Amino acid sequence: MYKPARIIDAHMHLLTAGTHAVKLRRMDELNPRLQEAYRRRWHDSLTSRREAEPEAEPADVRTVAGRWESALDAAGIERGVFFTSPNYHDDLLTFIALNPDRFVGYTTFDPTDRSSADRLRRQIAEHGVRGLKLYPMAFGFYVDDEACDAVYEVCDAAHLPVVIHFGISISAIQDLRYGNPLDLAGPALRFPSVTWIIPHFGAGFFREALLVAAQYRNVCIDTSSSNNWTRWTPDQPALADLFRRALDAVGPDRLIFGTDSSFFPRGYRTNILNDHLAVCAGLGLPPEQIDGIFGGNIRRILDGYAQATRA
Ligand SMILES: [Zn+2]
Repeated sequence: MYKPARIIDAHMHLLTAGTHAVKLRRMDELNPRLQEAYRRRWHDSLTSRREAEPEAEPADVRTVAGRWESALDAAGIERGVFFTSPNYHDDLLTFIALNPDRFVGYTTFDPTDRSSADRLRRQIAEHGVRGLKLYPMAFGFYVDDEACDAVYEVCDAAHLPVVIHFGISISAIQDLRYGNPLDLAGPALRFPSVTWIIPHFGAGFFREALLVAAQYRNVCIDTSSSNNWTRWTPDQPALADLFRRALDAVGPDRLIFGTDSSFFPRGYRTNILNDHLAVCAGLGLPPEQIDGIFGGNIRRILDGYAQATRA
């Protein structure tokens, strides 16, 4: 099976003692039934894949950075793009500073908050943050809300890609009303130079993700996670169907590989890397297209501007 020499994983999550403490505090404020629903969804999802639960006490950020360096080495991954918890950025900023050649950091917050644009500007200038991850279903906003535009303007000026989680989520406390990728039509039109990325093939809104990405050339699709959302769709497409239809709709240059690796002891999700490589081999994609999907496309987005400004 063909495996590219240079792979970038464009979808990973940083979990540390710091992010865990923030999460526990947020969970404490929730209705007990929602807390129970949250835990049950996680448990069901992991047991359906025969995966172990995350460790109860995640390690400090330096230990986690060392583990990820080893895990990326072992899996043959050149760089990982890491997301953090909403409104807790300290560990992410420390993490990317520990190994900036290896760890790419995307920040996360509520973009309708009036202080967000300034905070984003500072994190780009002072800490080298390279992208934005948005969770409209967690914060209850529509990505088309013009209150977000100040943040999108910063992304536009700094050439930052914006990854937006749409569709079903492993977090059972999120509000699906804000999760339709069609909401991206407005921002994609208002900010045609921004690269917008829809993860997990739309996580249930596959049709909508394909339509938006086919309509707007600045929209990409990421392949990450087990994509087990297909269990809850009427037609239950296979992983190969997701790749084939996405390639038909947007071509090989706008499909971006990721695993959604996040916690230890599970570590790097090599099984997902191998599944996605096998699907691409099975579809008969030429090596140069596989190189793009597994690294070249996101490298162009992350490094293209830096190279252009150095030239
Ligand atoms: Zn994710």
